[in-house]
Amino acid sequence: MMAERAMDMKIDTDSTTQATTEAVISKTDRRESHRTVSPEKVETATQSNTIKRSAAVEAEEWSIEKSEELYRINGWGDPYFSINAVGHVTVSPKGLRGGSLDLCDLVNGLKQRNLELPLLIRFSDILEDRIERLNACFAKAIARYNYPGIYRGVFPVKCNQQRHFVQNLVKFGQPYQFGLEAGSKPELLIALASLDTKGALVICNGYKDQEYVETAMLAQKLGQTAIVVMEQVEEVEQVIEASKKLRIKPVLGIRAKLCAKGMGRWGTSAGDRAKFGLTIPEILTAIEKLRKADLLDSLQLLHFHIGSQISSISVLKDAFREAGHIYTELSRLGANMQYLDVGGGLGVDYDGSKTTFAASKNYNMQNYANDVVAAINDACNQASLPVPTLISESGRAIASHQSVLVFDILGSSDVVEDTVEAIVEGDHLIIRNLHETYASITRDNLQEPFNDAAQFKEEAISLFGLGYLSLPERAKAERLFWSCCHRIQYHLHAMDFVPEELTNLEQVMASIYYMNLSVFQSAPDSWAIDQLFPIMPIHRLNEEPTQRATLADLTCDSDGKIDRFIGAAREVKPLLEVHTLKDNEPYYLGMFLNGAYQEIMGNLHNLFGDTNTVHIRLTPTGYEIEHVVKGDTMKEVLSYVQYSSDDLLESMRKRTEIAMEEKKITLEESQMLLQHYERCLTGYTYLSSM
Ligand SMILES: *Cc1c(COP(=O)(O)O)cnc(C)c1O
Repeated sequence: MMAERAMDMKIDTDSTTQATTEAVISKTDRRESHRTVSPEKVETATQSNTIKRSAAVEAEEWSIEKSEELYRINGWGDPYFSINAVGHVTVSPKGLRGGSLDLCDLVNGLKQRNLELPLLIRFSDILEDRIERLNACFAKAIARYNYPGIYRGVFPVKCNQQRHFVQNLVKFGQPYQFGLEAGSKPELLIALASLDTKGALVICNGYKDQEYVETAMLAQKLGQTAIVVMEQVEEVEQVIEASKKLRIKPVLGIRAKLCAKGMGRWGTSAGDRAKFGLTIPEILTAIEKLRKADLLDSLQLLHFHIGSQISSISVLKDAFREAGHIYTELSRLGANMQYLDVGGGLGVDYDGSKTTFAASKNYNMQNYANDVVAAINDACNQASLPVPTLISESGRAIASHQSVLVFDILGSSDVVEDTVEAIVEGDHLIIRNLHETYASITRDNLQEPFNDAAQFKEEAISLFGLGYLSLPERAKAERLFWSCCHRIQYHLHAMDFVPEELTNLEQVMASIYYMNLSVFQSAPDSWAIDQLFPIMPIHRLNEEPTQRATLADLTCDSDGKIDRFIGAAREVKPLLEVHTLKDNEPYYLGMFLNGAYQEIMGNLHNLFGDTNTVHIRLTPTGYEIEHVVKGDTMKEVLSYVQYSSDDLLESMRKRTEIAMEEKKITLEESQMLLQHYERCLTGYTYLSSM
């Protein structure tokens, strides 16, 4: 059936919006008729009638509250995203501190400034708010447990390395002496040069070579506390050697492999077989080596990281407790322990369900901070040792909320409900069979006609293959098949219970909405690891979304689609509720909470490049555009795969000359072609919309 569907697909906006409108009419028809007319009369209702009536029904029955519930925006969006009175998504970038922007108006305003969609909007105020929140939560926990130490967070650069983002992060983090964590040599270069906050930490993680270790140690001479964390057994020797060579007494950390296991996708980040960290026996060996090298007092930090997006607070608590004891033991063995770094893992509630579902978490930021502080406080009290400075490397929790990706829908493909054609003299038996099947559908008889219709359609295709059915006959058979599906679906809507065999009917019949977007570039985790991001229309939310759709992207890859959406708690929906497309009116969707990891992991599949990005800051009277980072041009993406645009253009020019000589193309046409080609090179890789 899906193969059949593929034949119907078309991106041509004109014809698809028309098709959509037709489908809508038939759907509203059905809804109407369900109340007032018997389904048998559906096909006779006039179009203008049904449109008017359905608009009245929408006005009566749909509400913004229903949209809130449907898209669960209050769950995942609070306190930054909500819906305003005109049915647009609003952004409150300062969280609870007031001020908001209409996202739809903002997008229109940016479009007028020639910033085409897809557009990634970064709200700097949200970033600031996240940093403040995290620090406030730790401050509160420290006060609550009378913790005699401090919190000094760091941001893992790998979550979002973009310069404007990191610069803002450093700026907003200054009041809290917020630092940076590097997981590689290039990230170390970013961290060392970007962080100028006095007292902030640079945590140096990841695989290291001698150059990495020496660079980090030398940077300590700049007055920065760059802590080299030994993550592999070999790094112990490296660190000792570098310290001898440079005659620098470094600040060192050690990453432990905890027994407390993470869960879900990153569950293997902990445990004996984890990629990073030292086992307890290895840690003891390292301590002896450091002691011999007279560097034991350099060992000041214990680090662990049990994975990202940890959904369950109990898993985190176990880890904090275990780490607390390792920390006190290291002190007892003579290390000069000062810091405990609990890594990442602080989750984001992507579906707003507050559960242990992978796309959620059953705790809030305050619970997290409380549990870190309480566990470490207990461990140190028990051992009668001074408490450490607490560090977390919270990336996802800081970076996710601040960016919103807005994209437009280019068109849709629908299973159009045609009026059922009458049987005429000479119609093939298979067509008569399908017609009879259609007539046999009643509320109490759905399964059998569905099976029959599917079988007859298969047969029709076989007959066509054998030359017994003409193309118009095959078309008639297919239309009849879809009419059967529509009628069955009509009855299903009125039922409380859907027979199992018919559950995927709705999915088969759903619309496909074409996104002006590449999933591989803008939401790679949606494709690679089935991550769920909240997706919803950013306008028309006072209107009932009458369509159910999967989203297909611009790439030629069948994986380039989104067919998993957040549903009720722990549920994943295959279809998104969307509005019907209107002629000459753009339809915008937003993808939310995608500010962590997506940008850098995005790839150039089909050579769709980086999207346009803007940084928006709230002002007392509206907003200010802090930075515009133009997306890749075709020239740029082509250069990534080693094409010189000059050479390409020259090659085209030569070919037009030859074609002109051969009189295949006129001078005028050749000039037009070259102009188009040249203009494309400097243009955006995505499609231009209205
Ligand atoms: C990825 C990573 C983080 C960030 O984790 P989040 O769950 O995004 O906060 C922190 N520390 C280390 C060592 C990491 O590898």
